Amino acid sequence: MRFQDVEKRFGDHVVLKNLDFTVNKGDRVTLIGPSGSGKTTILRLVMTLEEATGGYIFIDGQPLTHEERGGKRVELKERHKNEIRKRIGMVFQQFNLFPNMTVIENIIEAPVHVLGLSKKAAKEKAMGLLEQVGLADKADAHPLELSGGQQQRVAIARALAMDPEILLLDEVTSALDPEIVGDVLGILRDVAETTDITMLIVTHEMQFARDVSNRVLMFDGGHIVEEASPEVMFTDPKEERTRAFLSAVL
Ligand code: ADP
Repeated sequence: MRFQDVEKRFGDHVVLKNLDFTVNKGDRVTLIGPSGSGKTTILRLVMTLEEATGGYIFIDGQPLTHEERGGKRVELKERHKNEIRKRIGMVFQQFNLFPNMTVIENIIEAPVHVLGLSKKAAKEKAMGLLEQVGLADKADAHPLELSGGQQQRVAIARALAMDPEILLLDEVTSALDPEIVGDVLGILRDVAETTDITMLIVTHEMQFARDVSNRVLMFDGGHIVEEASPEVMFTDPKEERTRAFLSAVL
């Protein structure tokens, strides 16, 4: 995944400008930085929930929403965007499950309707994922009958059901009670250890960031202030801005 000179503005408000970075296949990159620094916007751009107002984003070398043709920035067709979108999964802070569907219906919805899997195959796969997240007995429950932690585990299973090449995790434990944060992070640690899914992670859980990521990007005001391995970032950051941020959150 590559961001090339990406700009994102909302009206006059420039949130990201001249943003360049590359995430290699299999990388686990955590974005840290103060609230409002643009981290979630980056995930939303990759998920195509927002579109960049300038520059280019590439997934595996392919342009995501826009490409350069004859010196012009051209928007790509919806069909192209949908094809790329299939390869990306996202788990949100607020779970975002469909409340009117059961757990298993939530998980098979996209595999059936987007990937064209048969219902039977999708269900088998979903049951395997529910086992993995410890919720096989909740397949027929509705999301609102579950605790926040359980809903988040379903959301993780739903994202994994698409076999994503890239998994975007946006503050996935922020809405959870402290005592269940560890369960959810443990599941994600397992995913990190047992797959080669590229992960882009926004989190305030610095220990988790340290455990799973191989690179950390520190953002402030829509810019990358510092990039380092977790070992260096969390013990010996070079930039004063990073030190100030980390001493406030650690
Ligand atoms: P972070 O994730 O680092 O807290 P965000 O990416 O959520 O930061 O937000 C970056 C900036 O973009 C903030 O100033 C926020 O108010 C602004 N922003 C995000 N989404 C929108 C939107 N849909 N409309 C207007 N401003 C937005």
